[in-house]
Amino acid sequence: MLPLCVAACLTVHQATPARPQPMKAEPFPLSAVQLLEGPFQHANQATARYLLSIDPDRLLHSFRKHSGLEPKAPIYGGWENMGLAGHSLGHYLSACALEFARTGDARFKEKVDYVVSELVACQVSRPDGYLGAMPDGDRVWAEVKRGEIRTGGFDLNGLWAPWYTHHKVFAGLLDAHQLAVNPQALAVAKKFGDWAIDVTSNLTPEHWERMLACEYGGMNEAMADLYAATGEQKYLDLARKFYDRRVLEPLAKGENSLPGKHSNTQIPKIVGLARLFELTGEESDRKTSLFFWETMVFDHTYVIGGNSNHEYLGLPRQLSEALSSNTAETCNTYNMLRLTRRLFMQDPRIEYADYYERAHLNHILASQNPANGMVTYFMPLASGSSREYSNPEHAWTCCHGTGMENHTKHSDSIFFHQGTDRLFVNLFIPSELLWPEAGVKIRMQTRYPEDGRIELTIHGDAQQPFEMAIRHPGWAEGTLEVRVNGMDEARSSDPGRYLGVRRHWRDGDRIEVSIPMALRLERMPDNDRRIAALYGPVVLAADLGARRGALPRTSVLVTDGRPVAEWLRPEDTPLSFRSVGVGRPGDLTFRPFHTLHHNRYAVYFDDFTEAQWQQAEAEYRAEEERVRDLETRTVDSMRIGEMQPERDHNLRSDRNDVRQANGRGFRTAMAGGWMEFEMKVDPNGPNDLVLTYWGNERVRPDFEILVDGTRIAEERLAGRPANRFYDVTYQVPTTVTQGKEQVVVRIQPRANMWAGSLSGARIVRSKGAP
Ligand SMILES: [Zn+2]
Repeated sequence: MLPLCVAACLTVHQATPARPQPMKAEPFPLSAVQLLEGPFQHANQATARYLLSIDPDRLLHSFRKHSGLEPKAPIYGGWENMGLAGHSLGHYLSACALEFARTGDARFKEKVDYVVSELVACQVSRPDGYLGAMPDGDRVWAEVKRGEIRTGGFDLNGLWAPWYTHHKVFAGLLDAHQLAVNPQALAVAKKFGDWAIDVTSNLTPEHWERMLACEYGGMNEAMADLYAATGEQKYLDLARKFYDRRVLEPLAKGENSLPGKHSNTQIPKIVGLARLFELTGEESDRKTSLFFWETMVFDHTYVIGGNSNHEYLGLPRQLSEALSSNTAETCNTYNMLRLTRRLFMQDPRIEYADYYERAHLNHILASQNPANGMVTYFMPLASGSSREYSNPEHAWTCCHGTGMENHTKHSDSIFFHQGTDRLFVNLFIPSELLWPEAGVKIRMQTRYPEDGRIELTIHGDAQQPFEMAIRHPGWAEGTLEVRVNGMDEARSSDPGRYLGVRRHWRDGDRIEVSIPMALRLERMPDNDRRIAALYGPVVLAADLGARRGALPRTSVLVTDGRPVAEWLRPEDTPLSFRSVGVGRPGDLTFRPFHTLHHNRYAVYFDDFTEAQWQQAEAEYRAEEERVRDLETRTVDSMRIGEMQPERDHNLRSDRNDVRQANGRGFRTAMAGGWMEFEMKVDPNGPNDLVLTYWGNERVRPDFEILVDGTRIAEERLAGRPANRFYDVTYQVPTTVTQGKEQVVVRIQPRANMWAGSLSGARIVRSKGAP
């Protein structure tokens, strides 16, 4: 059945002639829009300074090494000197190309040109056009070429997501070609693309299916772009092969296949499909990307516009319990904005622009420390959490890479146009648009979102009348007003639509837009008592002060259901508010979430009536105490069945079944199999091992738990609950942990039996231990 269907699908794609789709909203060239004074300009400047401080030779270290050349400088830290080596180089190329295209600053082009010339040298010294920085790449690709494909879900023959890394390098090369006008870059990308065609040329549909179980980034997008740049059909054919049927076929039919999936593995696949629709007009690509966007934004997204908890997606509209210090991976929002921008160009619906603003302002701007340009991996949304930023040279992650790009393109989605007939004003960011085709320059000045007043000034006489389509945000309550040269021109009480003002614009025309700004609440879809406060587009967070000492007690609000404007009052500083009489244990100061770079904060609150709170308080505090006690005793914890924590704890396994339940991963060692992983311990002990199990009805567990080779428990999990997650605590003898920093925990089924289904492990100091 399976291969037949794949063959049929491929035939359909190949038989349909490509029908390139016209864009209904066109972007301006990056050089046409300049940022003016404001937080986005500051963020851009911090990243630009950082990009110039990076040493390309350090990024090229492993590329040279794997091409048989001597590295010229030591490698950077974090994932660059782990399995994912090389992805940062691709992001760096893209970021420098973007920055050059925007500013014309030759220093960025020099960086791009240098990196490309070095990649040429790498290709020249190899026979095959391959550009890889990952250790052991040659062995793995030789195996793959022979059809020997193994994946534990997160790796390809032991290599960490190699196609993901290659996609970033392709994207960097294509940006270098298109934005930094480097013709060599396209030749390098083609050679590398030909390698990709060759290495996959013998693979059957079954091989592909197995290979695509491992994260492959946006290889379909990269190959589609290479096709667009060269016109060569072979790259389009390869793009089509990067199609993960398990996830994409249900989405194409309008079924949500995302719960329990690694979020950022999926989003780039959809960006690629959106791009393929533009190039080929394939209707199922469009349908898939639209359904995906709506599902992600309406069913899986937090108030700040980010998604995922511990990198994974849970059940649709079940977000209120999915709040942790590892919510909202920043790459996900980088990719969602890329997708949203594309979908807006295909069909300029205001929902896209509204989402873009939400995520751009409340997540992307929040994700950068403006002092030094460093960026977040996760954007914590648990009450009392705070942000961790990357380091200029070490601790690099995927989000450090996408973070290089994020702040070089704050100006790319402010304005769009339809020929010279309509101008979309989507984002309200101080900026200047140069639009020679229409004969005008337009300057936008505003303190938005501090207030809702925006002023647009026209310089030059327009060649013909055009419509200025001003976004009336979906969240706005009240009337949007537009005045031209001091006179009332248009108004709308219909938020979530564009307000169009068509005129023959003349030099000096002044357009004043007034967007009604007010406090409002948004509620969790699965718990309407869990709320977040916003002012206009700005997510507000309670500022819980510096990150010192024990976590503050979890705050709740006892508002008795009164309107937010009655209990949240403006303070003297713009966008600062103080709760009045409703905070428990005390009142709180709220500030824009995106500005709370260093302090602890709370975004979501439980909202009670006085009577409810009197009932709930004891229970609430007891649960808080239980969690706090566990957290303060925790020495180490990991989630099982998820890529990053398993890597961090060096999980190894044989014959494991990896699945999900209720949006969370778990792993079961089957008959003859095992798993083991490293956990930190308190060398002075005593320690307990807390294992989180999924009550799996499929298995009758019978297994042993060993710590550093010593059996600490025999377990059958008899009488334990089914179909939910639960914890079991095991004492670890002090003799096993004495004087050690770390131990190996091994889960080993008895002969012909299976182990329990594990979704987490935690080492805690035993209760009552000093
Ligand atoms: Zn990331």
